[in-house]
Amino acid sequence: REEIDRFRDTHRESERLWREASAHMPDGVPMLWMAKWPGPWPVFVERADGAHFRSVDGIDHIDLCLGDTGAMVGHAPAAAVAAITEQLQRGSTFMLPTVDASAAAALLAGRFGLPSWQFTLSATDANRALLRYARQVTGRRKVLVIDYCYHGSVDEAFATLAEDGAVVPRRGNIGPPVPLAETTVVVPFNDVPALEAALATGEVAVVLAEPAMTNIGIVLPQPGWHDAVRAACDRTGTVLILDETHTLCAGPGGMVARDGLRPDAVVVGKTIAGGIPAGAYGMTAEFAERARTSLELEDIDVGGVGGTLAGNAVSLAGIRATLSEVLTADAYPAMIERAAEWTAGVQSAIDRHGAPWQVTQLGARAEYSFLPRPPRDGREAAEADDFELQQYLHLHALNRGILLTPFHNMALMSPATTAADVAAHTAAFGEAVASLYA
Ligand code: PLP
Repeated sequence: REEIDRFRDTHRESERLWREASAHMPDGVPMLWMAKWPGPWPVFVERADGAHFRSVDGIDHIDLCLGDTGAMVGHAPAAAVAAITEQLQRGSTFMLPTVDASAAAALLAGRFGLPSWQFTLSATDANRALLRYARQVTGRRKVLVIDYCYHGSVDEAFATLAEDGAVVPRRGNIGPPVPLAETTVVVPFNDVPALEAALATGEVAVVLAEPAMTNIGIVLPQPGWHDAVRAACDRTGTVLILDETHTLCAGPGGMVARDGLRPDAVVVGKTIAGGIPAGAYGMTAEFAERARTSLELEDIDVGGVGGTLAGNAVSLAGIRATLSEVLTADAYPAMIERAAEWTAGVQSAIDRHGAPWQVTQLGARAEYSFLPRPPRDGREAAEADDFELQQYLHLHALNRGILLTPFHNMALMSPATTAADVAAHTAAFGEAVASLYA
């Protein structure tokens, strides 16, 4: 209550704008997720730079949410802004390639060790395209996903395991569900026997998974998981897609390059164009060739891949500049170091007050969960969810000028995030835990 009152008193201009916006947008926001903030209304942003943004209420915020990874490179990174602006002035969309296309593809190929790339407007689009290709090349229908995964608004991936093992739509799935029994198999993360049994049926076209789960807290792979997945895919002729949209936080070539993983295809998106819409997928030479030869040229129109503005010149200029000048290999050590500091600060406050929680770090990303030990799979992570507690901790931080990701207890470090930014969060978090465990 006290925190809500404090928020109300200090965010009057945001309130005014939100009431005005509510006349023409549900919940007063342009995209519904933006209504998921802990306060009674969302904070309206005036401008942002690096790891900070200023609200219309005149408050400076340390941004540990960074657009839920959309701004992992920091806000308005100069090199990307310059390249994007310059390309905008020279035209943005032609249905023809520009020189940045091959530069962007070559940069991604070098990072992920996959030679063949295509561009989209979002990671969701990239996942959808790859699922279609995988079905096309295998002639099979089913997609295997991990319980509690998120890969964008992809119908077949929006499923979970019921208590009796049935595959059912996830809560919040809008509209009549796709026939999940025909399209989708769900297995828990790190459950090798379940994955092997599902693939042994010979019905699964493709495994679509994150290398580490990031959408239900952070759940790290157990030793042997990735080798077992690759081996089972090889045995059964199943395509393996690793979605690195979030795990690009682990290093310049995501977990694929960091850990030597061997997918048939990877997906990236969110931050790769410096903050404007872009996604991409990369394929091995073999998978790209199978995908290409399995399509008659005239089928491409109905293949369900591609889009009018996909691969537009502005996004490609943004990707080229971001990868070569902002999110460089040299930028990662400091980002990862900041995340380690954040992890140590949060864990020490947890330990000091005896809260039964823990923190997990994955590269430049870290997250606390209301569990005494790291979760092994999505269900364990989900069972620790405590909405009210999370809202309190997030609102407490917001009232002290620190923004966390609304859907998780997650903090992300950009190349611009400083040790002082992290220390400010550590102090505020310690105060919040003390208020709960006094
Ligand atoms: N893949 C993963 C792992 C994600 O976490 C998300 C979004 O959170 C997506 C794909 C979809 O990204 P977008 O909403 O930018 O299409």
